Amino acid sequence: MKYDIAVTAGDGIGPEVTDEAVKVLNRIGERFGHVFRYDRKLVGGAAIDSTGNPLPDETVDACKRSDATLFGAVGGPAWDGLRGELRPEQAILRLRKELGLYANLRPAIVFEELSDASPLKYELLEEGLDILIVRELTGGIYFGPKGTAEIENGRTKDGILSACIDEGNMRPADGRAAYDTEFYTESEIRRIGVTAFAMARKRRNKVVSVDKSNVLETSRLWREIMESLHEEYPDVKLEHMYADNAAMQLIRDPNQFDVIVTSNMFGDILSDEASQITGSIGMLPSASLGDGNFGLYEPIHGSAPDIAGKDLANPIASILSAAMLLRYSLSLADEANAAEAAVSKFLKKGFRTPDICADWSVRVGTREAGDLIADFI
Ligand code: NAD
Repeated sequence: MKYDIAVTAGDGIGPEVTDEAVKVLNRIGERFGHVFRYDRKLVGGAAIDSTGNPLPDETVDACKRSDATLFGAVGGPAWDGLRGELRPEQAILRLRKELGLYANLRPAIVFEELSDASPLKYELLEEGLDILIVRELTGGIYFGPKGTAEIENGRTKDGILSACIDEGNMRPADGRAAYDTEFYTESEIRRIGVTAFAMARKRRNKVVSVDKSNVLETSRLWREIMESLHEEYPDVKLEHMYADNAAMQLIRDPNQFDVIVTSNMFGDILSDEASQITGSIGMLPSASLGDGNFGLYEPIHGSAPDIAGKDLANPIASILSAAMLLRYSLSLADEANAAEAAVSKFLKKGFRTPDICADWSVRVGTREAGDLIADFI
């Protein structure tokens, strides 16, 4: 089969790690008889330098035409002086929006071979860890009505804030005030729920839905929709957990989780917490999905300007992102498993990039790591 993949490598270590992921995809292609056609496009600082725009239309069009997009990382000191829409980091936010990607999938994986790299006790992760956090990406408090207002004599001219003050029976002190609004529609909750239940079916059949339904109206609606959706997935176990408890349980007993589904803000916080359990940022992939099979796949790390161009970056996050691309956008599960098994073999044989290097291991650079992982396929 032939597949079209848009490649937006970006800045810093972005192009270095993406090259290694492409190397692994090519080997998968040879072994399994597929042709991957790459359409490389500029994004981030590299796009600013040549077009003045961090996300040129040509790049968006190429992503829209593709079966899936492999993204590297954007940003760096050369563009730190730029503001607002001109910043390289805006490219990824705008791209997700342009492509209608509302579900962010962040696996927290600890390979058994790296159990000692986690800050958690060895006993907790002796057999590794494999959690998938499904975060709603385009709604909630980050996108709801927001603003600032001036309070005078306990009142404000701002409509929404006035209503809040009346409703809460408050008489706030004069001065500045600000508000953000958590807002979710039934259909936004439903579609992220469908993603989570569908993912659980491909894994260990368990969803924990995280909310604060003891205090938030949006969470009560969230819980109600998850419950009704559960009727369509009776083979998947559903549990509800308050966000504060979930934050604690992730540290206390991370292996109790399979799929976690949650809102934009809780997902933002919990996925960063979960990534820290795993030890190195250079190991973690992610996917952003919308309706249909298309998805954008990227390592969770940034452009790491401190190590860029030095052959020091760990390409595993990008290679595992390519594995997610194979699994979720191209429905090539055996091929995805082969890429993940090759990473596992690389670690088992004792090879390590500097970020995960131990005294006894064999230290390799970015390119050699990619070569070895490709060879293990
Ligand atoms: P970062 O993730 O780039 O780096 C944090 C630390 O982790 C650095 O010490 C870096 O060397 C190390 N690191 C990151 N990836 C690694 C890898 N694959 N192998 C080994 N070590 C790795 O975060 P930062 O330093 O806060 O940000 C640097 C730039 O990246 C900034 O311009 C930031 O805005 C941007 N950024 C972009 C994205 C994105 O493109 N999605 C995400 C986060 C940050």
